[in-house]
Amino acid sequence: MDLEIKDKVIVITGGTRGIGRSTAQLLAQEGAIVFACGRHSTDFDNENIHYHPLDVTDYSQCVNLRNEVLKAYSRIDGLVADAGITADALTQKMTEEDFIKVINTNLLGVFNIVKAIGPTMQVQKHGSIVTVSSVVGEYGNIGQANYAASKAGVIAMTKSWAKEFSRKGEGVRVNSVAPGYILTDMLKSVPEELLQKFEGMTMLKRLGQPEEIADTIAFLLSDRASYITGAVIDANGGMRL
Ligand code: NDP
Repeated sequence: MDLEIKDKVIVITGGTRGIGRSTAQLLAQEGAIVFACGRHSTDFDNENIHYHPLDVTDYSQCVNLRNEVLKAYSRIDGLVADAGITADALTQKMTEEDFIKVINTNLLGVFNIVKAIGPTMQVQKHGSIVTVSSVVGEYGNIGQANYAASKAGVIAMTKSWAKEFSRKGEGVRVNSVAPGYILTDMLKSVPEELLQKFEGMTMLKRLGQPEEIADTIAFLLSDRASYITGAVIDANGGMRL
């Protein structure tokens, strides 16, 4: 299916690695103009992808990014709010610092970038926003109270924005993809036996690849998903934690 995403201008936070990077590469292959953002610079072998430095915890950086994209292309058609981190520990051992760090990146960071770009899409009267939440935000998980709270919050914000950004008929769509366990750097610190356990908990009996999440995100960004908004799409191999 042709997603007809050519020439769309799309901003991706967390575009430098993992799911965000795979999404940037897929969209660029399809002819989109992609701003792949993150704190650490990286190379891409597709000239349609522009790296842009960004720390999502800093709202002023999100505003600067938006202004630069608008200066260059006069519109933003899509936003993927993907940047996220973990700092896992059982609750009695979780420090306030680790709790706040995860909330600042995963929850406030998504708020910051959507606050910067969502209203621009309202003025344009078009745009698609995809947040990246998690199976953990839906079902909770041992040792991830901070992460689960942040991702449940992302889901709640997504549903709120779907209502808010189209309340006057602007047509801006806002959806979330909730991945299961996906083989990226984020899983590097998870013990092998736990990964095997998670694998066994999926209906498909395997963990996911970042490209599989990229496909889901690209679909939601595209006009092929024109009647989908306020939705949370599970891409987790049939997992219930
Ligand atoms: P990775 O660790 O591979 O990539 C994380 C990305 O987020 C990097 O590009 C990183 O870039 C960026 N990032 C982190 N902090 C910041 C920040 N403060 N400002 C800007 N960018 C930041 O993780 P994944 O690709 O696996 O995860 C992507 C998203 O998917 C996350 O939101 C994660 O919670 C979610 N997810 C992942 C799952 C998995 O199993 N992998 C499962 C469910 C959800 P840089 O270091 O350059 O700043």
